[in-house]
Amino acid sequence: MTNQLITWYKKNKRDLPWRNTSDPYKIWVSEIILQQTQIKTGIKYYMKFIDKFPDIDSLAMARELEVLHTWQGLGYYNRALNMLNAAKTIKNNFSGIFPSSYNELITLKGVGIYTASAISSICQNEKKAVVDGNVYRVLSRFYNIATPINTNDGKKLFQKIANTLVHDSIPGIYNQAIMDFGAIHCKKNNPKCNTCPLKINCKALQLNLINYRPVKKPAKKIRTRYFNYLLIKFDGCIVIQQRDKNDIWKKLYELPLIESKEMIDKNHIITHNYLDKFKIYKIQTNGRKKHMLSHQKLVMSFWEIIVKEWPKKQIYKKIKLTEISNYPFPKPLKEYLNKEDKIH
Ligand code: SF4
Repeated sequence: MTNQLITWYKKNKRDLPWRNTSDPYKIWVSEIILQQTQIKTGIKYYMKFIDKFPDIDSLAMARELEVLHTWQGLGYYNRALNMLNAAKTIKNNFSGIFPSSYNELITLKGVGIYTASAISSICQNEKKAVVDGNVYRVLSRFYNIATPINTNDGKKLFQKIANTLVHDSIPGIYNQAIMDFGAIHCKKNNPKCNTCPLKINCKALQLNLINYRPVKKPAKKIRTRYFNYLLIKFDGCIVIQQRDKNDIWKKLYELPLIESKEMIDKNHIITHNYLDKFKIYKIQTNGRKKHMLSHQKLVMSFWEIIVKEWPKKQIYKKIKLTEISNYPFPKPLKEYLNKEDKIH
């Protein structure tokens, strides 16, 4: 299987921007971006990120706000914050030289077994096997494995099998081969079994179980949350705040938020203690938006509140509407605010 995949890869590999480098910094950026991201979007963000932070020095020196801004729209913002943290660690503990050995890489924040294996095998030919969604699919079909991939047992089992397959002298090429093979040949839907170099030994194909592999344990129940965002306006300015709790969108900016257990009406908003300090001139609903995250459904209601003046004591962060683009906001809020920016 190993050699067949490598032969296939030599003819069919994808031309990706990070394929022409063995710079561990660039491989790391690509691997982190590609987690939970489609390849097309990943390429766009990779180019943007490398353009803004071409090396570990420039990233280590960056401000958190700049990094989040570059990441804006990609989701899972902890990835960006962990990268900044890791860049500073590399600057301080590794004399600014990006490590490429597995044992060093795994000590960095946000770098797990997958990323450390990918970088060390690609950049340093270390014999470490990667297991990502593509690898799970290929292995579960080829060996007809029904153990759910999102369980500890499943993870251990697939990693064990992957470790036996990784090539002795070109592990990085092998890892990229199996990932590309899963991405463009043994695809989730309509895998190209007719032209597959592995078809003679593919167990799931023989048993007609391709569409049932890999197996996943049902996901956790989706939780619905109700976010009421307050667009408090006066004199071309609005109030914003930074999310600081251990929750979604940590460190991104947002409008003042009232989270409720269910949908609430205007009276609830007006009487909420957040607005005690403001002299309200006018309040009106300004649309609703639903937004899905992996385990949460957000029902976002927007309330436009025009005030008569700003409170004397400035405990709020006030910005001009024209400054919105200087701050990283979660995608659905950004879309809403962009509309506001154009209107006013
Ligand atoms: S035969 Fe089909 S299911 Fe089996 S490895 Fe090839 S593409 Fe995947």
